[in-house]
Amino acid sequence: MELHAAEFTLVGLVRQANEDASMVGDGLVAVADGMGGHLAGEVASADTVTTLRAVVGMRAPGELVGAVHLANRRIHDRAAENPELHGMGTTVCVLGVVVDDGDEKLMVLNVGDSRVYHYGSGVLTQVTEDHSLVEALVRDGRLTPEEAEVHPQRNVLTRALGVEAVVEVDAWVLTPADGDRFLLCSDGLFNEITDGQIAEVLESAKDPDAAARILAERAETAGGRDNITTVVVDV
Ligand code: MG
Repeated sequence: MELHAAEFTLVGLVRQANEDASMVGDGLVAVADGMGGHLAGEVASADTVTTLRAVVGMRAPGELVGAVHLANRRIHDRAAENPELHGMGTTVCVLGVVVDDGDEKLMVLNVGDSRVYHYGSGVLTQVTEDHSLVEALVRDGRLTPEEAEVHPQRNVLTRALGVEAVVEVDAWVLTPADGDRFLLCSDGLFNEITDGQIAEVLESAKDPDAAARILAERAETAGGRDNITTVVVDV
């Protein structure tokens, strides 16, 4: 299975620095959205991508999961050693080709509120579950999805890499169909544009490069209040 992938990032209209990071490698793509004072968020997201690059080309599900746990430990240890980096963390979402029972499949991994979407047969579906306060409130029936979208604390995460010595990593194994498309993105995308607008771009922009760029540009035009990172993957 070959992934045809493209990445794009914009700092947005408000932030001074870009704390997002992304990677596109052979059979492995990822998006990370760092947080923390000064440059700490950039360090956390960049460290995560560096750790993931080391498993590009590996096809065992356990190696991908292990790389995310390793990234968590590295960020956590680095923050503990360096007061300037104290409290740093990052989201991460990953899509990779794995071999499961002798068959090539796709594996999705997630910690935090960056997202992986699947687009196929004209339908956009969020694969990952956000580890955010508002998502937990929606699950409990205490907020509607509409209220969550504009909630002042919608950036508060319930899980991130680097915050604790050990982290829980969500994982899914998918069997993709020919022509499936996946989108990985930071919250700077979906906090600015709707699922309908995302689907419209994924439908109309045939080339992954163009789709990744147009999505990010639309989010910037719609407000650009955060860094925006997109990775579009055709299977
Ligand atoms: Mg963000």
